[in-house]
Amino acid sequence: MLRLLLTLLLLIFIARAFWQIVGGVIEAAQGKPVRRGGRPEAVKLVKDPVCGTFVAPRAALSVTTSGSTHYFCSEACRSKYGRG
Ligand SMILES: [Zn+2]
Repeated sequence: MLRLLLTLLLLIFIARAFWQIVGGVIEAAQGKPVRRGGRPEAVKLVKDPVCGTFVAPRAALSVTTSGSTHYFCSEACRSKYGRG
């Protein structure tokens, strides 16, 4: 009886693994990109005017002067820009 139960559990396990693989293959065949955690975000990079490094606005330090915003890779670059 126990052996039968174990065999049944093993079959369920194999069937689940099998369907996961089949599902993955079908999704790949349909050309669906796998996305996790909502919509994809296009990260636009901006150039640090002091050293020329490209930085992501969300992670960068910024200064807004007369309507335009400038982004910097570090505090050193930001203060350098302020001093001209
Ligand atoms: Zn910089």
